[in-house]
Amino acid sequence: MENQGKKMLESAQALIKKTAEKLGLKEEMIRRLIEPEMVYEFSFPVKMDNGQVRILKGWRIQHNSALGPYKGGIRFHPETVREEVQALATLMTIKCAVAGLPYGGGKGGVAIDPKKLSSAELERLSREYVKKIAHFIGEDVDVPAPDVNTNPQIMAWMIDEYQKIKGYQSKATFTGKPVSMGGSLGRTEATGRGGVIVLKALLSELVKDGSTKILSRLNSSLTLLKQKVSKNFVSPSFNNQKLKSNNEITIAVQGFGNVGYYFAKIASEAGFKVVAVSDSKGAIIKPKGDKLEALDIPLVMECKKEKGTLAGCYCAGGVCDTKGGKTITNEELLELPVDILVPAALENVINDKNMKNIKAKIIIEMANGPVTEEAYEYLSKKGVIIVPDVLANSGGVTVSYLEWVQNKAGYYWSEEEVNSKLEVMMKKAFEAIWEKASKKKIPLKQAAFEVALEKIVSAMV
Ligand code: NAD
Repeated sequence: MENQGKKMLESAQALIKKTAEKLGLKEEMIRRLIEPEMVYEFSFPVKMDNGQVRILKGWRIQHNSALGPYKGGIRFHPETVREEVQALATLMTIKCAVAGLPYGGGKGGVAIDPKKLSSAELERLSREYVKKIAHFIGEDVDVPAPDVNTNPQIMAWMIDEYQKIKGYQSKATFTGKPVSMGGSLGRTEATGRGGVIVLKALLSELVKDGSTKILSRLNSSLTLLKQKVSKNFVSPSFNNQKLKSNNEITIAVQGFGNVGYYFAKIASEAGFKVVAVSDSKGAIIKPKGDKLEALDIPLVMECKKEKGTLAGCYCAGGVCDTKGGKTITNEELLELPVDILVPAALENVINDKNMKNIKAKIIIEMANGPVTEEAYEYLSKKGVIIVPDVLANSGGVTVSYLEWVQNKAGYYWSEEEVNSKLEVMMKKAFEAIWEKASKKKIPLKQAAFEVALEKIVSAMV
């Protein structure tokens, strides 16, 4: 997977370079924006249950700290390589700047398949990894969090080990902890919730008359969506407004994990019509005539838990809401005639092979990198609005920041307070990018990178 990591890194660096050149930055500044400030690469021993010792390879990469301490998750994955960790650290710098957080970007990783480890082995791995990074992280230096295959339990082992090594309490050094250890309420749902906040903010802009600058180059199907939105929102500003119950704004969500499930659930609660969801085994829909019916998302989740897969829910004897439904493939889900498409599972799923078949007018990139560069350009030219991952899925790191603030203050907010702060911060982040995109008539991704680089450069001496 070295090549995939290399490709990812080259693409992140090329995006920064292209944006920096457009902003007229000097060569030396571009180098500083591309190169990581610190790369820690190490090997370390972990004792297995059978008494054998495995030597594992790990990384912590600190990309840029102009805006504050490095921030970014730690992933455990067999195919993790240095280039991938560096690419992800680079994108965290951009994401934190886009989200308006006082953080730089970092990322960590261990090349290991954690699914093949017992719980005791996983705990020893987590503690040994922390022994390697403890002296160059800290609440005002570098603040790790969960990522692929790591979770609140692993953060609990890590913070415990860190505090033992340091000999003092420092809860704010890791985020994504269990609530009992200083984690924030609302963190589990935060990424999905943040995506819905951004979607609502986008639709709210689309129905404003002043949005015609950006709408002028939009295709007729988006104009139709604008009419639909205007008809269905009780008020165009719709602060905390629900859509009217008879709304027809349809959404398909790929991925039914942490991000996809909460996006689908919160979007349904807000009145959107979620008509398709999928997991790795396939997608489900409920056709009625030439239309697709709304799925009852919590019921679908109940069924997935019972059957193991979403496909298993199809015609499940009337116990689940998908009775009368149909399974389709993940590829077919992406090409459904819906208003809004939400890839929330894997990278590169919308690419040169299927971009011409995409019918959605808005794509919300909830996964990291689900739309390839080529497809992004093609679809943007066609008038499809694509909300980039660095903005769309920044709700998770935003609530991580709120967790850090609470830990440092020793004062804890209710879930409603956390959600309302998340809403304010996500809307502000969206508005800055929307304004830049409208003013310069550029796609949201380009605007996001420009907003981020301007902030970072202004903080660099
Ligand atoms: P998860 O492991 O909880 O869920 C992943 C989902 O994708 C599962 O439903 C799985 O069945 C599905 N899936 C796997 N392979 C698939 C395939 N081939 N086709 C369709 N679906 C498939 O992961 P998550 O935390 O929901 O993360 C999803 C994406 O969002 C990743 O790209 C992740 O990097 C990104 N992300 C997550 C967070 C977060 O807070 N969890 C934050 C930012 C970005």
